[in-house]
Amino acid sequence: MFMAFMVKKKISGKDYYYLNENKRVEGKVKTKTLAYLGKTEKEAKKKMKEIIEEGNKKEEKKKEEVVLTKEKITIDDLANFCKAKGFVFRSSDIYGGFAGFWDFGPLGVELFNNIKNEWWNYFVRSKENVVGIEGSIISNPRIWEASGHLENFSDIAVICKKCKKSTKIDKSELGKVKCEFCGGEYESQGDFNLMFKTNVGATIPLESYLRGETAQGMFTNFKLVHQTSRMQLPFGIAQMGRCFRNEIAPRDFLFRSREFHIGEIEFFLNPDEKKCSLLTKEHLDIKVRLLDAETQEKNSEELKETTIGKMLKENRLEEWHAYWLAEQILWFNSLNLREIKIREHKKDELSHYSSATFDIDYEYPFGSREVAGNANRGQFDLKQHEKASRQNLEVFDEPSGSKVLPKVIEPTFGMERILLALLVKAYSKNSKGEIVLQLPRKIAPVKAAIFPIVKKSEFEEISKMVFKDLKKDFNVVYDSGGSIGRRYARNDEIGTPFCITIDGDSIKGKDATIRDRDTTKQVRVKVQDLKETIRKLINEEIDLFK
Ligand SMILES: [Zn+2]
Repeated sequence: MFMAFMVKKKISGKDYYYLNENKRVEGKVKTKTLAYLGKTEKEAKKKMKEIIEEGNKKEEKKKEEVVLTKEKITIDDLANFCKAKGFVFRSSDIYGGFAGFWDFGPLGVELFNNIKNEWWNYFVRSKENVVGIEGSIISNPRIWEASGHLENFSDIAVICKKCKKSTKIDKSELGKVKCEFCGGEYESQGDFNLMFKTNVGATIPLESYLRGETAQGMFTNFKLVHQTSRMQLPFGIAQMGRCFRNEIAPRDFLFRSREFHIGEIEFFLNPDEKKCSLLTKEHLDIKVRLLDAETQEKNSEELKETTIGKMLKENRLEEWHAYWLAEQILWFNSLNLREIKIREHKKDELSHYSSATFDIDYEYPFGSREVAGNANRGQFDLKQHEKASRQNLEVFDEPSGSKVLPKVIEPTFGMERILLALLVKAYSKNSKGEIVLQLPRKIAPVKAAIFPIVKKSEFEEISKMVFKDLKKDFNVVYDSGGSIGRRYARNDEIGTPFCITIDGDSIKGKDATIRDRDTTKQVRVKVQDLKETIRKLINEEIDLFK
């Protein structure tokens, strides 16, 4: 209800009427003038009535606005949803599946490609000091010996003495953790290396491995990239691609599988370089929800609100490390994944190569888990490869005028884990209880659905013309089956941000309706402007639905 009252003021002997409203501000009642109503009581009453009616109408309209509620979903329900809609299938489904392997369906491959393209555009194309490579999946096995993977890249398989469930634990957790299902004691089944073995060649086969990470490709190609790309220190090499780990206990849908994609940057810099020239105030002011090492030492998981700037002051990381952690957070924010937290590794859990590591965790239905990470790998990898290959991997550093063996900052991303986080975040329901997948427009698998209002040739003709035109630039669908409401619901469910309807006015006035997924609001746009309008809407250059 709109609460307002009329007051009369006498100014220089004349009457003036105003509409006022009382509001409570910080415990005190304050009067605010909303409008001037006129000079006579009759005129003022009429105007007041109009204003109040207008106000009530606005409130009514607000009530009618669509409310989407974020739905909690279990990971199994999400897997079922992904299968039913064609996002992700079990690998080898007709043979009963194959644990730890997944296939992307028609919608899943579009969604995943969009995420991968967003990543590549942000971290490679738009950065002046990063170049990309794509390495082979199988490489000389001496790489994995030098990197320490053959010796250290293992988990311990355990069986619970009480409930007999088997799982894996990290070496550092041996004797410290209890069964996650029943709290029973674990019995070790031994150390298992996670590298996938394969044989290369026929007559005298050489035992080799499918890569367990993308990073080694950047280290072994470091000097060639430096020589050929005209990059000077500091610079980064990025790569995204399939990796393989023979997980003891794959679980949680795409989260822990045996074949997956990593997106990774190895950023090489002079080991003596302390200042990061790219660190801006925007980076320093980024808010971080941090679970620091000290808190974890006290067996607590309490988060601290801090900033990248404060973390730097506390010497938790170096400037270039801070820059890359900040860039990672900015990218997650650009996908509307703001519920991330940063977990600092304790000294006893740092990988064999790292001097400081942070996990970027997301709240999944099965708990807060790592979606990305950021490690300071120091000179470990290049030193190892220098020793094993007997090649000098030093490069000339112009600012210092000397040859140096660079140290490395490594921002890394689990690409399927990002896809999973986006689906968890997007899964919502409208007031009718129908699923609306609120994916960011730029990564939605289908950008628009084009409907003829009814199945009649005059509408179908224009619809197909629009469909063919838009299809050149975007992944769009043509849908003429069922009621308009049914078609909206079908597209909301898979996250299509826009539905375009060709109706009677499209034939007469040559315009069509664009309907927005999240607000269900509609606007009319000239048929010839549809493609450009959709492009601007996807890139958030305009907003027609506020
Ligand atoms: Zn148990």
